[in-house]
Amino acid sequence: MASSIYLKQFELGPMGNYVYFIGDPNTREVAVVDPAWDVDRIVALAEEEGLTISNILITHSHFDHINGVEGLLHRTKAKVYINKLEAEFMKAVWPELVKVDSGDTMHLGDVDITFLHTPGHTPGSQCFLVHDRLISGDTLFIGACGRCDLPGSNPEDMYYSLTHKLAKLDDRTLVFPGHHYAARPYSTIADEKRFNPYLQFQSLQDFLRRGMGIVKMS
Ligand SMILES: [Zn+2]
Repeated sequence: MASSIYLKQFELGPMGNYVYFIGDPNTREVAVVDPAWDVDRIVALAEEEGLTISNILITHSHFDHINGVEGLLHRTKAKVYINKLEAEFMKAVWPELVKVDSGDTMHLGDVDITFLHTPGHTPGSQCFLVHDRLISGDTLFIGACGRCDLPGSNPEDMYYSLTHKLAKLDDRTLVFPGHHYAARPYSTIADEKRFNPYLQFQSLQDFLRRGMGIVKMS
């Protein structure tokens, strides 16, 4: 497994959002994950590091994750990658839009990025698996998961995304979340399986009753 990845995590805006550069350390070509809040800073950081921004990857369509897309499209020739269900959900109209499915991959130099559809927080939420690292958006946080009481949320989908998709990844996978909500900036799947209460529930009913609280059972 190739381990040479360029990954930079930085926090922007008033809600502790993490923005990421991921790409190939040799070609210096990168994708920006969830550009928001400060496009000038994003462009300046890329310039400082000698990076070319060729793609924009969207974990989901909430304002705090996408409010820099428009601005970045004016400054770069990037294409925007979004899950096809999220594109429908937000009625995305950006030019250069690429609608992806779960399991699709993208190549940046020698680096492969796999799109994993993880609905729950929104219908088309997705995570990005980059070799041994997972960019988990607002699906999996360190010690928590994304809210499931918002328009388009579905707690049942969240349960399956967490337990049937993310918990099945290799234990050594590093987890890079969408917000700075925990003391440390990243975790591992092994640690989340051990310490994250949202990955402890043994059944969907248990997850809905005790984890989500607010959900009415039908
Ligand atoms: Zn969100």
